Amino acid sequence: MRIKKDDLVIVLSGKDKGKKGKVLRVIPDEDKIVVQNVSMVKRHTRQSKKSKGGIVSQENPIFAGKVMIYCPNCKEPVRIKAKILSNKEKSRVCARCGEELDKK
Ligand SMILES: [Zn+2]
Repeated sequence: MRIKKDDLVIVLSGKDKGKKGKVLRVIPDEDKIVVQNVSMVKRHTRQSKKSKGGIVSQENPIFAGKVMIYCPNCKEPVRIKAKILSNKEKSRVCARCGEELDKK
């Protein structure tokens, strides 16, 4: 999967179109991702030892195909391409400006 945890992505369709957020979780089996503050749903939780219960807002997973990687350099959603580094490791770069998106 081309999208990884902690990537900055922008939503391309749906009610959260245009929203930008950080990828909190990737679910490769379902081709879905969880993006911070995107597709928020309210859930009722029961009282337990851990929490008081009540209504909490939580991100719902969305399809990975609905988002694009956001390039901080281009300030736009961009396509990415793989670049092979000198140490033979693969890195993802912005297809437009070449900005490296896998920061360590
Ligand atoms: Zn770029």
